[in-house]
Amino acid sequence: MSKKEIFRLMIGFRKFREKYFANEHPLYQRLTNGTAQTPKTLIIGCSDSRVDPAIITSASPGELFIVRNVANLVPPYETGGQFHGVSAAIEFAVVNLKVENIIILGHRQCGGIRALMINHLGHTEGFVNQWVSIAKDAKARVLAKYPDEKDEEALCRHGELESILTSIKNLHTFPFVEEAVKNNQLSLMGIYFDLELGQLMECDERSGEFKNIEV
Ligand SMILES: [Zn+2]
Repeated sequence: MSKKEIFRLMIGFRKFREKYFANEHPLYQRLTNGTAQTPKTLIIGCSDSRVDPAIITSASPGELFIVRNVANLVPPYETGGQFHGVSAAIEFAVVNLKVENIIILGHRQCGGIRALMINHLGHTEGFVNQWVSIAKDAKARVLAKYPDEKDEEALCRHGELESILTSIKNLHTFPFVEEAVKNNQLSLMGIYFDLELGQLMECDERSGEFKNIEV
């Protein structure tokens, strides 16, 4: 363990504490004063260190309910005895917190999607390969759409966008998500963060096209 790095993180915590606990009516006093959390949005983002949803949206504590995993994927709805961490978070956000939005936040240069798209040796072992196979239909769509594309960066970028659509499709397989969407209590959005250009793109779920968000 790097003590220097841990020390740096603790200095960061001191700054955080000064910001959120030091004022007369600090935010955390309000957030913890006899009420549960009331975030309006669930973001499902990637574990990548460069794409923290709270940082890139300048969100305050209490605003976002967040799940992060490799390649920001949503598995299909499955019951059974396994340990469904992402599904548990989706259930809690929709059924208990009654969030109004779910955002799938994909991003450029995603290592998880690279593992899915550029797997020259056909590895299937390991947790990452197994996990990203959730989006194998996205890979198949990209390869069918761009059969002559040889550029790996381009293939990965297409895969990053298509896999967002897979996750949205899988969200619809959760009965409580589908019910909330049908009752207009919940919106699903796909957003792509281009961390090279500093831009966000939004997915049109019907057409599958992504367009720049002007902010
Ligand atoms: Zn990623």
